[in-house]
Amino acid sequence: MVSINENFIKLPGSYLFSEVAKRVNAFKSAHPDVRLIRLGIGDVTRPLPQASIEAMHRAVDELAHAGTFHGYGPEQGYGFLIDAIIRHDFEPLGVRLSPDEVFVSDGAKSDTGNFTDILGLHNTVAVTDPVYPVYVDSNVMSGRAGKLQADGCWSDIVYLPCTAENGFVPALPRHRADIIYLCYPNNPTGTTLTRAQLKKWVDYALENGSLILFDAAYEAFIREDDVPHSIYEIEGARRCAVEFRSFSKTAGFTGVRCGYTVVPEEVAGTDAQGNRVALNRLWNRRQCTKFNGASYITQRGAEAVYSEEGRRQVKETIGYYMGNARIMLDTLRQSGFEVYGGTNSPYLWLKAPEGTGSWEFFDTLLREVHVVGTPGVGFGPSGEGYLRLTSFGSREDCVEAMGRIAAWARK
Ligand code: PLP
Repeated sequence: MVSINENFIKLPGSYLFSEVAKRVNAFKSAHPDVRLIRLGIGDVTRPLPQASIEAMHRAVDELAHAGTFHGYGPEQGYGFLIDAIIRHDFEPLGVRLSPDEVFVSDGAKSDTGNFTDILGLHNTVAVTDPVYPVYVDSNVMSGRAGKLQADGCWSDIVYLPCTAENGFVPALPRHRADIIYLCYPNNPTGTTLTRAQLKKWVDYALENGSLILFDAAYEAFIREDDVPHSIYEIEGARRCAVEFRSFSKTAGFTGVRCGYTVVPEEVAGTDAQGNRVALNRLWNRRQCTKFNGASYITQRGAEAVYSEEGRRQVKETIGYYMGNARIMLDTLRQSGFEVYGGTNSPYLWLKAPEGTGSWEFFDTLLREVHVVGTPGVGFGPSGEGYLRLTSFGSREDCVEAMGRIAAWARK
């Protein structure tokens, strides 16, 4: 019989979201008349920008005629989208990219999960804690994580705690790390790094020959001037960093699926003989073999995000979510809660009352105010005692949920 990749058996089940669903369903069965408000979801709720809808309709019509039909496209993405990405996402930041450095995909989850295909198995991986679980799980699958320990951490992964004590800014690792995942604005804490803070990581990577995998899926939510939109705003990053972007949260593409990854020509690793090998070449080879491009329709929809109309519509939608975040932040602070994020991010990181664990706080809010969050401990040990809330819901739900929490806090 065929043997399996045993690393997959090491992975525990996706406990966090299944346990949330279990507790929510049990509560709903016991209290069928209660209206629950879900502030835990990481999915958007506003419709796509009208400009993208119209562009996708036009793309469908093109496919209906032999003269304008499109079959397989370039694996790296169509030139029209890559040019729009470079012109709108990077040129205004003073970042110059060549079209060969941008790889369009079906989203940042696939790219962050797949990128380590091209990296050696003996690299040491560092992640911030709490963390977006894909970074850890994909390294478990490929065999870089070691053994799962009693505390929920993997023996060979370096965890970089992000806590209120360090202002959610991870300290540089004490043991050298080869691959470092940074996600800013951060999921789940909603916090950011300033240019000076990110520069320390770029300098570290350059000094140690490390690679930074920089996930900027929430870049569009940045409001403050000192928060970099791209790691390439930092000098030297072209030599040590790969950046992942997504149209999911920016433009409501969670269901349509489109993102891209930037792999600068200079960023390299070494082979067994110590020769430098450009990661761009390897990623291109990997994608050409295992990926057949995002659909033409999708890429036309993504291109339209950058049109004048598209940009206006995206700004409006992000403004809506950030308006929710403002309401949440203000209400929670006025109600005496310690809360982080929510300024440059759709995520809020809510501290449970002293001595209360994440799951206990989750249960209390579910039972007493009928609001559902996501227990912070599910994102890593340093998430214990926190709940993640998101501003992706409707304004009405957001206002009502905050009203309920404020009334509860007054009791
Ligand atoms: N990266 C982070 C940090 C995320 O939170 C998410 C989605 O929640 C993704 C990537 C996935 O993005 P996409 O929808 O483009 O796959």
